Amino acid sequence: MNLILLGPPGAGKGTQAKRIVEAFKLVQLSTGDMLRAEVAKRSEIGRQAAAIMKAGLLVPDEMIDNLMDSRLDQEDCRNGFILDGFPRTLPQAAALDGMLTKKNMALDAVLPIQVDDEAMVQRISGRYTCAKCGEGYHDTFKRPKVAGVCDVCGAHEFTRRDDDKAETVRARLKAYHAQTEPIISYYRKRGIVHNIDGMLSIDGVTEQVMAALKEHVGAA
Ligand code: ADP
Ligand code: ADP
Ligand code: ZN
Repeated sequence: MNLILLGPPGAGKGTQAKRIVEAFKLVQLSTGDMLRAEVAKRSEIGRQAAAIMKAGLLVPDEMIDNLMDSRLDQEDCRNGFILDGFPRTLPQAAALDGMLTKKNMALDAVLPIQVDDEAMVQRISGRYTCAKCGEGYHDTFKRPKVAGVCDVCGAHEFTRRDDDKAETVRARLKAYHAQTEPIISYYRKRGIVHNIDGMLSIDGVTEQVMAALKEHVGAA
């Protein structure tokens, strides 16, 4: 099963992707995570992307298309993948179609997670992750069971993203509405879009996602 999770920054794509990965044994391909890894490595791509990401703008399509094209060739994608953060522009969606055709792959479902702008700002400003295992948390909505200790791996260190600041969030929302939202109708024409109400609780959203995916995995 090959899926796309769409939605504005902070909608819960990463949170839900981790749950879908576990339930269906897929790989999560997050272009944001891939780019942050390039920035940390100080690679050529990382050097080019860093300032753009910090400003809350989108990196050039070609850069992302190339990253994704080679990532999709890796063995672990054969059993199915979830795209989290890609495509984000209409040209990226067209490029993805070309890649998938060439690789003999197809999309099964596109899940746009819908949330209003106020909720997104609230979610992003409270977001942090475990520095060791990457588990996501939130100051209000998802606190660790024991304060300061990761539920999953027991680590004590957490990080906040550089671009999760109020000024940058506004730029990212603008980029989402202008460049990413039009993708939904691009896929809707193919009948593979399942709307997800992202205003529900984390578990409530997962229930909707699972219900939407049932028809794609038969009796599972
Ligand atoms: P979020 O999960 O908050 O939506 P991401 O982690 O997906 O954010 O992306 C972080 C940043 O990385 C974006 O603001 C953008 O600068 C860059 N980025 C990620 N994916 C893409 C993409 N498909 N096209 C262009 N830029 C991207
Ligand atoms: P995205 O990958 O779309 O940018 P995340 O999955 O990182 O979004 O979620 C953003 C923040 O909001 C995280 O701190 C996460 O714990 C929290 N969050 C995710 N889904 C929900 C939800 N349905 N209700 C409340 N908070 C949520
Ligand atoms: Zn952890």
